[in-house]
Amino acid sequence: MRKTLNILGIKVDTFTTIESLGYIAELAEDGRSHYIVTPNPEFIMQSLADDNFRSVVNNADLALPDGTGILWAAKYLTLPMSHSRPLAHFQAYWQWWCTGLSVIIQPQALSDVIPERVTGADMVWELSKLASKRGWSIFLLGSAQGVAKASAERLQWLYPNLLVTGAIAGPPYGSEEQVIEQIKTAKPKFIFLAFPAIEQLRWMNTYINQLDGAIMIGVGGALDFIAGGIALNAPEGAARPAKRAPEWLRKRGLEWLWRYLTQPWRRARIKLATIDFMGKVVKFKLVNPH
Ligand code: UDP
Repeated sequence: MRKTLNILGIKVDTFTTIESLGYIAELAEDGRSHYIVTPNPEFIMQSLADDNFRSVVNNADLALPDGTGILWAAKYLTLPMSHSRPLAHFQAYWQWWCTGLSVIIQPQALSDVIPERVTGADMVWELSKLASKRGWSIFLLGSAQGVAKASAERLQWLYPNLLVTGAIAGPPYGSEEQVIEQIKTAKPKFIFLAFPAIEQLRWMNTYINQLDGAIMIGVGGALDFIAGGIALNAPEGAARPAKRAPEWLRKRGLEWLWRYLTQPWRRARIKLATIDFMGKVVKFKLVNPH
């Protein structure tokens, strides 16, 4: 059974990684098609401006909390507030400081509402492991030329029994019809969509009913991390091969800082996902005290 909570209109599941994998295995066994989204603060900002985007996210069969900002917002929004307006304002800012500092100093203090981040990037490894154990196949779609194939090779090196039924770069690819036909013929159990969020959701919404018992999951730049690829949407000459933040930074909720320093072309997006997102959450709490 799903356990979800609502963050600024977006449904997010509160499973741990292990619980998520158990739930995904149940989905994989029921014979129907499903899609799994990985909301992060950027998703939430996008959904505030786009009703269609929000409804596709909220119709997902699972919404994994892909970002410390999501854990922070979940904790911050559930802290109680006074009914007195001036006191509530003071509390909202005070709680913002304390929870904001916790992200860096004591991240485990945020974990009582959503227990941990469950990222698309980690799920590529976890689901590949699960698939290799259960005899399920995977299909990799998206990212620059050669990245999906190189990722497939790395995953198969780690999990020799893993069945990869396709690895296609894109978009831009030849024709979307051809790609979807290839996927239908390959009949994978898991389809990893390595696209920007809006493209992931378009794929999920368009093709969910055409697939036979497959599970689509949005993994963003995960394949770039696995294969050291350069994101297709990076400006020419500006990007270097992607390298994921070291674990100690990820644990401290500072993966965004790593990306801010190593991928400067992302800075406007990172501001949106940190400062602007926090501002929206604080405002939401002040307007909707509980
Ligand atoms: N990408 C793609 N086609 C495009 C634009 C991007 O396949 O037209 C790929 C890109 O190479 C990257 C992935 O989509 O591997 C995710 O990009 P983004 O940087 O938006 O995702 P994030 O890492 O922020 O989730």
